Amino acid sequence: MPPTPRTFSRVKVSLRGAARLKSGHVWVYRSDIVSADGVAPGSVVSVTDQRGKMLGTALYSSSSQIAIRMISRETTSREAVAEFPALLRQRIAEAIAYREAILREGSAHDTNAYRLVFSEADFLPGLIVDRYNDILSVQFLTQAMDAQREIVASELVQRLSPASIIERVDPRVRELESLPPRASGLLQGEKTATTFTMNGVHFRYDALEGQKTGAFLDQRENYAAAAQYAHGEALDVFCYQGGFALHLAPRCSQVTGVDSSRPALEVAEQNAGLNQTLLAGKEIEWIEANAFDLLKDYASANRRYDTIVLDPPAFAKTKRDLDSAMRGYKELNLRALKMLRPGGILVTCSCSYHVSQADFLEMLGKAAIDSHRSLRMIEVRGQAKDHPILLNVPETGYLKCVIAAVN
Ligand code: SAH
Repeated sequence: MPPTPRTFSRVKVSLRGAARLKSGHVWVYRSDIVSADGVAPGSVVSVTDQRGKMLGTALYSSSSQIAIRMISRETTSREAVAEFPALLRQRIAEAIAYREAILREGSAHDTNAYRLVFSEADFLPGLIVDRYNDILSVQFLTQAMDAQREIVASELVQRLSPASIIERVDPRVRELESLPPRASGLLQGEKTATTFTMNGVHFRYDALEGQKTGAFLDQRENYAAAAQYAHGEALDVFCYQGGFALHLAPRCSQVTGVDSSRPALEVAEQNAGLNQTLLAGKEIEWIEANAFDLLKDYASANRRYDTIVLDPPAFAKTKRDLDSAMRGYKELNLRALKMLRPGGILVTCSCSYHVSQADFLEMLGKAAIDSHRSLRMIEVRGQAKDHPILLNVPETGYLKCVIAAVN
């Protein structure tokens, strides 16, 4: 029998699953699925509690630990299933309109790179769309969204007329979703490289080269905030393609960026070249090194800085890594605090969802005590607002960025 993707199916969830949905969350884990007999992978389903009461409409994954991602609290009908592509189009339009509304003030004229669609936080679970000037980068992260790639691409073309759309594939996600392997590549158009602007700073984007991740758009507002307080000699640790370093440079006498990835530093150097006017002859020094080793060496050599940025990769990928992650953050922050001159600025970040803001501040407090420094919190920040946090879905908020003055 040929597959019938629009089959109307029902998934029954346990008491715990239903309670989770009632508390405003949009996920039900596989362990809370009571029955999903004959439900096709990636289909639009009607969700009920154990007694058969309707809880809404969801996208179903046959293999992920997150079996259900809600798309509506409305009772499902056969029509709702058939209408999913129309709903998808409408929500993409709404996500674009949301960005237009929140980015209009201030940054719109000097920023043309931001997240256009942020999965659950835009009521489009499994879909991420980033804009890099005239190129769009798309990720399909669930069975259901993967099946809608043509609809998504056609809506984006219609609304935004990008030069091209590039699909970024995470092989691990496809494996978790039992989707056939796929290579990253063009979905529309032919352009694979461009330059884009954040806060008036220019960057290079090359979809087929380097780490293929584009930029860390979630830090855009933190770059601008950090630049406000940066001064003197600055060290940008885990600098990647120079996001913080390039923003700090106009305010600082000297900037050094450190990263273990040579390809990232090569792009950082090219980015510096794109910003010659901004840098006004200032050179940024890029150092390829393990940040832990370098900080240790610099600290024992009594190096001193006025501004230090710490933006490491997520140390806690799962809850189980939390203890060792906290030790990693503490070590980095302790070393940085010891190296800051009085009146110095620490910009310290964590993008681990499993490390809460409270955990992070507690760690920083302990690092302050151990380094005999006093910290005044200038700003406690999160992710840029084009990465909205959906209240009651804590997983949509993950970035912490503390800017502190160090005595
Ligand atoms: N601050 C950057 C983003 C940093 S992402 C920005 O705003 O664009 C984390 C970076 O840490 C990556 O570039 C990765 O190459 C680097 N990295 C990971 N482990 C490292 C280590 N042990 N030492 C130095 N760099 C490391």
